[in-house]
Amino acid sequence: MNDLARRKLFRALQDYVNTGDSFDSFRRFRTKWPMFFHEADYEEVEQQIRAGVEEEACFFPKYKSYLRAIWEQSDRQAASRRQSDPSRNADRLLIMLGVRDDLIFNYTQDMMVEDMMVATPHLHYVNTWFARYIPDWRSGEFIYKAVVPFQEALFALFKSSWRARICPLEDDCNSPCSTPYFIAEKPRQKYCSTECSNIAKSKVRNKWWSKHGKSWRKKRNLKK
Ligand SMILES: [Zn+2]
Repeated sequence: MNDLARRKLFRALQDYVNTGDSFDSFRRFRTKWPMFFHEADYEEVEQQIRAGVEEEACFFPKYKSYLRAIWEQSDRQAASRRQSDPSRNADRLLIMLGVRDDLIFNYTQDMMVEDMMVATPHLHYVNTWFARYIPDWRSGEFIYKAVVPFQEALFALFKSSWRARICPLEDDCNSPCSTPYFIAEKPRQKYCSTECSNIAKSKVRNKWWSKHGKSWRKKRNLKK
């Protein structure tokens, strides 16, 4: 994968993990990244959200919260604030990367047995993206083959997991970050964007001024 392709995949993945919960947010994401998931998958999600299915049965909101949990575990500062469970995150990765089925019981109400409402379990695949592993005789390794760009993006992130970070302005009371989950381009990058980094810098400056400003001005006046 070349650098440009990887960056584009990361941008899409970053938009996905920051997507809001509303139907409109989903629609905006779909319009912006029509190829990130299969067309048929987007269609299904649209119907599912309209029908109001639970999160467990619909990959779009479900995997978004899986990703957030993984991000929280990956970001050391965030992980210390929250409880995270690495083994659960390993399961989540197996499902999202298409190594394991995401097969759930989806209980729906059926009108059966003389108009009695009976809850019937339906087995339901949340997605059908079964990734492949191609054995490479020369290298002696299995090569992961994603079947949807989302998996390709996630696999690329998996191989450089230090990139998954949370913007420190996430819970800021004055200027909360609207895209706190980000994929860092460089190891030193601390904030999601230059905007957030500038806000943080001016905060430090203001703090310094409110603490030392008075004595600084005094000293300067004495020098005159
Ligand atoms: Zn930010």
